[in-house]
Amino acid sequence: MSHNQLQFLGAAGCVTGSRTLLGCNGRRVLIDAGLFQGYKNLRRRNWERFSPPPDSIEAVFLTHAHLDHSGYLPVLAAAGFKGPIYCTEATRDLCEILLLDAAHIQEEEAAFANRHRFSRHHPARPLFDQHQARRAISQMETVAFGHTLALGEIKAQWYPNGHILGSGSLLVQAAGQQILFSGDLGRPADSLMRAPEPPPGCDVLVLESTYGDRRHLTIDAKQQLADVVRETVHRGGDLLIPAFAVGRAQLVMLLLHRLQQSGEIPSLPVYLDSPMAIDTSQLMMRYPDQHRLNVGQCQTLFRHIHYTRTPEQSKALAAISAPKIIISASGMATGGRVLHHLKRMLGDSRNTILFAGYQAGGTRGARLVNGEESIKIHGHYYPVEAEIQQLDSLSAHADNDEILQWLRKMPVAPKRILINHGEPSAADHLRVRLQEELGWSATVPAYRDSFDL
Ligand SMILES: [Zn+2]
Repeated sequence: MSHNQLQFLGAAGCVTGSRTLLGCNGRRVLIDAGLFQGYKNLRRRNWERFSPPPDSIEAVFLTHAHLDHSGYLPVLAAAGFKGPIYCTEATRDLCEILLLDAAHIQEEEAAFANRHRFSRHHPARPLFDQHQARRAISQMETVAFGHTLALGEIKAQWYPNGHILGSGSLLVQAAGQQILFSGDLGRPADSLMRAPEPPPGCDVLVLESTYGDRRHLTIDAKQQLADVVRETVHRGGDLLIPAFAVGRAQLVMLLLHRLQQSGEIPSLPVYLDSPMAIDTSQLMMRYPDQHRLNVGQCQTLFRHIHYTRTPEQSKALAAISAPKIIISASGMATGGRVLHHLKRMLGDSRNTILFAGYQAGGTRGARLVNGEESIKIHGHYYPVEAEIQQLDSLSAHADNDEILQWLRKMPVAPKRILINHGEPSAADHLRVRLQEELGWSATVPAYRDSFDL
């Protein structure tokens, strides 16, 4: 007799705020504790009182380090969650980089808003600060891939899923049931990350659907990137690539390096303007078994990149004459140094802004990709004259064909499937494909929906 319950406290009807509560015979664990990003009515949820009470949650199981999965941990800890946060070692290392950076950015933005008085909140304050981020990091405990974590009758195991360093699908055993959380699923033929491992069998599957309604172009991402670089150089402009500091920034560096080596693009300077992306690149050398490059290849790659760590170095980039390539975070232009480059570069039609990953609805990235004519940054509007491009084929998420391909490797069909982490059309499109092509029926939960398993 099972007594498991799942409740979707985020990533339901959207791709951010991943938080899924598992109740098992009165015990509670939370799978991921992510930030809501994008639309204001979603971001507002980050400030709401968390329910159930954080001190009633025994542990958090983390699938990977991206902020939409980990960025709520400092808030949860500050609100009374005292339990362990279990994750892989690389996830812990990345969270240390990401959470401290996110805290720093929020502290700076609050200070900036208070100085310039453009926030409606007086005084503006950060959602969490560096002290709170450090407290959450201190609660992290690592579990190796392939090892089983046992908390009494609740057991958990991580399976590499090829999305970023340390990322995994998570199999939880509780009250006689096997519940598999796909996590953000990587791609079978990424140039940087290894293919996701085949999924284990399960009774219940919680499946992501970011690209549930799309197929990435079959054209080589490298060729598309080459075209964008050549066109920008031809116009005499600069190329700005907003990229997730963890994962895509390193892939873009790798592809640019290969294109320069083969002479397919001119040899022009590439700047990695994100201390966080620089730290992440160095972490790649610590975990060579989790991606496709060996330590020597990493060293060669990173030698060809100019790093800008300090704000002064970052500002100095403006004075360096075109053409050049700047890779900077955040990938959806929701914050970080990329905003300063956008302010400077958007108004010049010779420049290109190239988005290298998924753009969640409501983010500046999504607005730019959708062709908005002016964009608000730090309280001011900036007209968009630069060329805006997006390469979905650089994405770290499986497309719908690749999700199905992964599911076909399951030893048995799950008895129940819940589709999360997708905007409504993406999640529903994937639901229909599962029904039609695999004969599996699935449900798309709404925010705060709860299911007895
Ligand atoms: Zn992710």
